[in-house]
Amino acid sequence: MDIKNNFSLKQFNTFGVDVKAKFLTFLEKEVDIKEVFDSEEFKNNPHIFLGEGSNVLFVNDFEGIVVVNKLKGIEILREDEENVWLKIASGESWHDIVLFTVEKKYWGIENMALIPGTVGAAPIQNIGAYGMEIKDVIEDVFTFNIETSEKKIFSKDECKFGYRESVFKNELKDKYFISEIVMKLSKNPKPNVSYKVLRDHIDKNSIDASDIKKISDAVIAIRQSKLPDPKILGSAGSFFKNVFIEKDVLKKLIEKYPDMPNFEEGDGTYKIPAGWLIEMCDWKGKIVGRAGVYEKQALVVVNHGGATGMEIKILVDDIIDSVQQKFGLTLVPEVNII
Ligand SMILES: Cc1cc2nc3c(=O)[nH]c(=O)nc-3n(C[C@H](O)[C@H](O)[C@H](O)COP(=O)(O)OP(=O)(O)OC[C@H]3O[C@@H](n4cnc5c(N)ncnc54)[C@H](O)[C@@H]3O)c2cc1C
Repeated sequence: MDIKNNFSLKQFNTFGVDVKAKFLTFLEKEVDIKEVFDSEEFKNNPHIFLGEGSNVLFVNDFEGIVVVNKLKGIEILREDEENVWLKIASGESWHDIVLFTVEKKYWGIENMALIPGTVGAAPIQNIGAYGMEIKDVIEDVFTFNIETSEKKIFSKDECKFGYRESVFKNELKDKYFISEIVMKLSKNPKPNVSYKVLRDHIDKNSIDASDIKKISDAVIAIRQSKLPDPKILGSAGSFFKNVFIEKDVLKKLIEKYPDMPNFEEGDGTYKIPAGWLIEMCDWKGKIVGRAGVYEKQALVVVNHGGATGMEIKILVDDIIDSVQQKFGLTLVPEVNII
């Protein structure tokens, strides 16, 4: 196992923030996990696992060990007439796996094409897009306990999935390393194109929604027109979660802001798009030093080149403050601030 010292993390986070890790190592094979956990550098320092670094903001140098996940592999665990169960190593690229399932015509994750990152990070914040979430297809999450190196399989229920949430982002944060996941996908067509933006795109372009490839191509086209490519403009995608409020709070806000978009959720709360709140505070397209808010999507905070994590964090805090002052609503970051 090769452990590097004082290593730049610039290429390991999609914000492109140039901080250093005290130690950095790559996890190439599952058998090496124990060796990493048993190393002095791991035992005596804070640790963080990284996939592609597309959901993190490093504010300072990391005074511990960064373990970059490179575990690869995909197998068909079992299949029947209707479904297929795929077991996938956590270091695989999520988008590559979506393309694989689209090619095989396995339905269930096609709307989540082009989400950056690794398979292992996907359950951590229950990734989702265009009306689909990974919680809808996940069966099991295979993990290693960091303290004991013991294996534990989490069932879907044990993962406690919520909107951009799971047990791994909350009470078990940094306690387990995710090594593999099992997803159950459908062999029978199950198009899910009710999400408005996707539906409109499909209708406008007369796309055949029974063709899985055409749906994922549509998602890719929409995403490319709206979101910055991290290779060109540093970001972590949506920086904030949408806001959920009770009916009485909504009523008062609508009196003041009649145009406020809101979507009734099944549980009686209402979703307010965080991007709209930020836009109404005049942040969209604003550049502050070397950081800024993306011109096409106010939810996305960007690094225009050379911004430090702290500069980005200060901008994020200012956005939160202004939304709080104008609407009395608290924006919560989706991104892990480290
Ligand atoms: C342009 C852009 C668009 C995006 N669009 C979306 C979107 O539509 N929907 C969405 O949900 N997200 C989106 N994201 C966020 C991001 O892609 C996802 O959160 C993704 O799952 C992160 O994967 P990663 O491998 O980069 O994780 P990282 O950023 O490397 O890690 C994220 C967190 O998970 C932990 N972690 C990572 N791997 C493991 C592991 N194997 N075991 C234990 N802990 C681990 C890390 O320590 C960290 O806390 C977007 C990001 C970008 C840059």
